[in-house]
Amino acid sequence: IGSASAFRLGAHDRLLGGLLTDDGFEERSCHSRYQFTTYRRNAGRQPSPYLVTKLRRHEALQRRCGPRTAAYSDAVEQLRSGKSHAGTIGSSPECRYLVSISYQGLGNRILAAASAFLYAVLTDRVLLVDPSNEMGDLFCEPFPGTTWLLPPDFPLTGYTNFSIDTAESYASMLKNKVIGAAASTAAQQQLPAFAYIHLDHDATVQDNLFFCDEDQRVLRDIRWLVMRTDSYIVPGLFLVTGFQEELHMLFPEPDSVFHHLGRYLFHPNNHVWGFITRYYDAYLATAHQRVGIQVRVFGDDPESPELLQQITTCTQKENLLPELLAAGREPAAAAAASARKSKAVLVTSLKSWYYDQIKSMYWEHATVTREAVGVHQPSHEKYQQFGVRSHDTKAWAEIYLLSLTDVLVTSGKSTFGYVAQGLGGLTPWVMYKPANGSLSLVPDPPCGRDVSMEPCFHSPPFYDCRIKQGADTGTIVPHVQHCKDVSWGLKLV
Ligand code: GDP
Repeated sequence: IGSASAFRLGAHDRLLGGLLTDDGFEERSCHSRYQFTTYRRNAGRQPSPYLVTKLRRHEALQRRCGPRTAAYSDAVEQLRSGKSHAGTIGSSPECRYLVSISYQGLGNRILAAASAFLYAVLTDRVLLVDPSNEMGDLFCEPFPGTTWLLPPDFPLTGYTNFSIDTAESYASMLKNKVIGAAASTAAQQQLPAFAYIHLDHDATVQDNLFFCDEDQRVLRDIRWLVMRTDSYIVPGLFLVTGFQEELHMLFPEPDSVFHHLGRYLFHPNNHVWGFITRYYDAYLATAHQRVGIQVRVFGDDPESPELLQQITTCTQKENLLPELLAAGREPAAAAAASARKSKAVLVTSLKSWYYDQIKSMYWEHATVTREAVGVHQPSHEKYQQFGVRSHDTKAWAEIYLLSLTDVLVTSGKSTFGYVAQGLGGLTPWVMYKPANGSLSLVPDPPCGRDVSMEPCFHSPPFYDCRIKQGADTGTIVPHVQHCKDVSWGLKLV
């Protein structure tokens, strides 16, 4: 089946088994929300009924406490005054907030927002996403009747510069005995107006105490939290024993957490959806099979024949792309075009060289299977750019197009690929980096099937909260294991 219109789905399937709600949205404000299932062959996993109920409850919280409500004005006023809310430990105000700072590449930003959302759901906080770095320009609103974007009059004006040195970071406040067990009784009675949670790649052991139950209890009553992460911290949340029962009910299949969160939160806005659908309809729709190949390179990397060889050996060895007849050899009898199977290969990369080479190979040589192989690459931006709308539009469109393929090959360690595989419900073949980082070696094997479609948490804690000492966090909970592409990282399986 080629074109999108060939799919006929009931409302229940269109809304992904209740993951999405129809209430409170206008179709024309976000075409992708209503059309995306018609572009996805892979129906993906079903959400648990508990997750569906919880999402509806969370949407109500976002509406009740979000921007433009009296509760929000009140909470902002309290933050502006720098005072804690009237209550003390154990008496939480109804509306509490989590601000997620947006920075780094688009893949990082998406994973950070998804992680923040899950933490917000687990702790009944309103999620507000920092709209900078195009986060306010690429997506539809996920929550009906409100906005998830942090309004411009947010009183902590320097929040995007919060760093490991910020005095209000949870780690600094612990160290300075402003909060925590070591704080004086007076300090314990008076909670700070906000805390900054630093979960960046350079987070210290103290910052990572965030992943301990005791510290979660301290954070619970602080009305405003501002979080910076460039990682998918969700596997770390599964280490917090206080969250485990709830997480199990929300996600009986822990290897599909981002799959559900991603499809719930990230709907391309109409501008980006135009990029996606025009490309899909023109180049991918009619093929019998779509093969996605994500080639993550950096602007200064030289063109690498070894990486090209890694791509071709991987795809041919794993039967994702057909092998070629030797130069000059043609098949004995050309099959009728109508009887021939076709493959559309979607290459994404900052460079065009790999695409050029693969395309030429399948033009200059016949395939042993006689399949017709078309190779396409939407853009080649050369360098990663920051804060440029047209650049991020293409990146988002390409991540999304990769997620619409039938089989996916990704570059290890790349959040760009993680988002595509999660949205698509695809367990990718991963091209691992050569052990010493050298570009002049072809790894053997060139790629391997990943263990799950989940993203990898690149900077996890190495601390066991129960015994209060350093530990291998990949051995504490059965479904939190180390990643194949980043050996120290953690991943849900
Ligand atoms: P990661 O750095 O691989 O983890 O992925 P990120 O998405 O976080 O950051 C890489 C950024 O570089 C992307 O967001 C894009 O801005 C740019 N980029 C990298 N690869 C591609 C690509 O294949 N296509 C496009 N359009 N942009 C890319």
